[in-house]
Amino acid sequence: MSALPASVAAPAVPHVKLLIDGKFVESRSSEWRDIVNPATQEVLARVPFATPDEINAAVASAKAAFKTWRKTPIGARARIFLKYQQLIRENMAELAAILTAEQGKTLPDAEGDVFRGLEVVEHAASIGNLQLGELANNVASGVDTYTLLQPLGVCAGITPFNFPAMIPLWMFPMAIATGNTFVLKPSEQDPMVTMRLCELALEAGIPPGVLNVVHGGEAAVNAICDHPDIQAISFVGSTKVGTHVYNRATLNGKRAQCMMGAKNHAIVMPDANKEQTLNALAGASFGAAGQRCMAVSVAVLVGEARNWIPDFVEKAKTLKIGAGTDKGVDVGPLVSCAAYDRVTGLIERGVADGATLELDGRKPTVPGYEKGNFVAPTIFSGVKPGMAIYDQEIFGPVLCLASAETIDEAIALINSNPNGNGTAIFTQSGAAARRFQEDIDVGQIGINVPIPVPVPLFSFSGSRASKLGDLGPYGKQVILFYTQTKTITERWFDDSTVSQGVNTTISLK
Ligand code: NAD
Repeated sequence: MSALPASVAAPAVPHVKLLIDGKFVESRSSEWRDIVNPATQEVLARVPFATPDEINAAVASAKAAFKTWRKTPIGARARIFLKYQQLIRENMAELAAILTAEQGKTLPDAEGDVFRGLEVVEHAASIGNLQLGELANNVASGVDTYTLLQPLGVCAGITPFNFPAMIPLWMFPMAIATGNTFVLKPSEQDPMVTMRLCELALEAGIPPGVLNVVHGGEAAVNAICDHPDIQAISFVGSTKVGTHVYNRATLNGKRAQCMMGAKNHAIVMPDANKEQTLNALAGASFGAAGQRCMAVSVAVLVGEARNWIPDFVEKAKTLKIGAGTDKGVDVGPLVSCAAYDRVTGLIERGVADGATLELDGRKPTVPGYEKGNFVAPTIFSGVKPGMAIYDQEIFGPVLCLASAETIDEAIALINSNPNGNGTAIFTQSGAAARRFQEDIDVGQIGINVPIPVPVPLFSFSGSRASKLGDLGPYGKQVILFYTQTKTITERWFDDSTVSQGVNTTISLK
């Protein structure tokens, strides 16, 4: 039998593989999606929507691997992540280049995306200090009580497009370091950097079956929510999908945590350092083309700060739009044509709803990248609840300016918004900052820090409509998410112990 000609045998563009039982395998799916460079529309690769059999095979492999992985010594698990962090560092430039090509953000920001995930890998390498139980000596006469934090079994992660390195790294390193096995379902829009990170994880020594990857969309996510052999699901993405995942997974008896959408406000007090504030807010609103769950999308100008609108506009105009690969670029393209249509549609809605379009970023000229999904920084003033640009998460480079007479009015506006991912205040007053941190009902707070994403010594602690489930991803909280606490109460008798007879009460005697 002759081999097929190369043109038939080899796909025209690379196919993203599944990772099942330690092997990168070609999917047998008939449903595929193009992965497109958002600056050029070049098709970079194709990703399969895994079949039910493939998803079952990934879970079965993780279930089988759990039998031995759960008993692997702490030091052996930790050393894999020591090696892994080194491999990520060595491959940083390549990882960033893949990320920028498929997602669009600038190369320095892509490195930041990988780096914020790398910090979690470093944390996983110290798992011995984190997965510690407690012991109380002599809780009753001769009785001790202690706890074990034991892994759950097969855990799963479902990730969004906007941080294709950081968010998968929030999930599988901590799950695996605590003794679980894992099935990851990356975003179907940009899974290539995630797959490269998985290759490096295997190179670092993660055994076959401990980490598996399936691709797909709604059907794959529903299969994960329904699978009886999956114990816990960590989800990051939009509020609509996260709410569905939480409800479906918990109805099926799983532990779930869902980090979801946002509308992050920053209060600008008139005593704030003006230049620092304008720089911080321009970076936080327009960086990554506004596609961050912690992007500042509303600035509430208090008192005299309401006169700063022209300064915001001038600052925004200094940012350079272009392909993420080009030097000096601040704002890359939106991830897809669909995202472009949604963001430009919302800008039109903002005008129709009566907000003042101070800076219109639609249709910027980007020489050499005429087909890119570019929207330049856009600013609205006079924005109020009830307008679509205020009520919806735009997820584009659009800053809404609202105003308030006093800090109390600004805090009340933020607290009446359903979201609770992040917020910030810009002020030189310690008293105002302290008042803000006490009275604001949002889980992550910046004081003169525009994007207060905690490092892994802490956990990501979004709240209210931005989060379902009690425990955050990474940090100390996630140890409890990925483990079951067993509490053991023990007593040992030696020959001199005098019998107390039958104890028919609940008291320990
Ligand atoms: P998304 O909800 O569309 O997708 C997230 C995941 O869900 C993907 O893996 C996708 O394949 C899957 N999915 C999509 N539609 C589905 C459906 N109908 N049923 C089941 N699964 C489905 O989110 P996105 O557009 O990729 O990411 C942007 C969103 O993520 C924004 O809302 C952003 O605020 C949010 N986000 C939140 C955080 C956080 O920590 N709170 C971090 C990053 C992003």
